[in-house]
Amino acid sequence: MAQRILLVEDEPEIASYLVRGLGYEDYHVEHVATGAAALAAAREHPPDLVILDLGLPDMDGLEVARRLRAGAPIPILMLTARDAVADRVAGLMGGADDYLTKPFAFEELLARVHVQLRRAQARQQHELLRFDGVTVDVAAREVRVGDQRVELTAREFDVLELFMRHPRQVLTREQVYERIWGYDFGADSNVLEVYVRALRQKLEAAGAPRLLQTVRGVGYVLRDER
Ligand code: CA
Repeated sequence: MAQRILLVEDEPEIASYLVRGLGYEDYHVEHVATGAAALAAAREHPPDLVILDLGLPDMDGLEVARRLRAGAPIPILMLTARDAVADRVAGLMGGADDYLTKPFAFEELLARVHVQLRRAQARQQHELLRFDGVTVDVAAREVRVGDQRVELTAREFDVLELFMRHPRQVLTREQVYERIWGYDFGADSNVLEVYVRALRQKLEAAGAPRLLQTVRGVGYVLRDER
């Protein structure tokens, strides 16, 4: 389903430019030109993200942001005039997640939109991966065995998350290197072995059984062999 963007912008040229561009990227865009219309539209069809011009004819954009936020934690991307530095700061304080200074390149706006929507999605889903007593909270980057929290380094977490996403599936060393490090360390490297050993020690110290099994000559698999 297309994600909904509410565009609040009173300058017709900018508005039509953004409606066209975002529509082309398969977003469902609703455009309004005033703060009052924005609040009404957000109530009627809650958007996934709001692009909000700071200078609106009827209402301060910051006030609109505050009221939108009072209803729901919607990501807001604020559009500000070129030298409104103080306003930018206030915009962030007032609940905007990000801002762009006019004039901006469409690609820049699109990149910000992607980031905000991705973050919002991760927050909403609060995705939990579970396998045999081990729980990985993807958004919070927390790992537990039962109730016990396990402290992992960032890379250890990445390796564990990868295996938790592919339980009982043999992942070759090459696959893991490509996914986590972006390149293959080669057959002689023991980088992955080091991480697997550390993960086994930490998980097992917290009471988990041996879950990362070696598949000799190939790679590893997340599987309980009790
Ligand atoms: Ca304006």
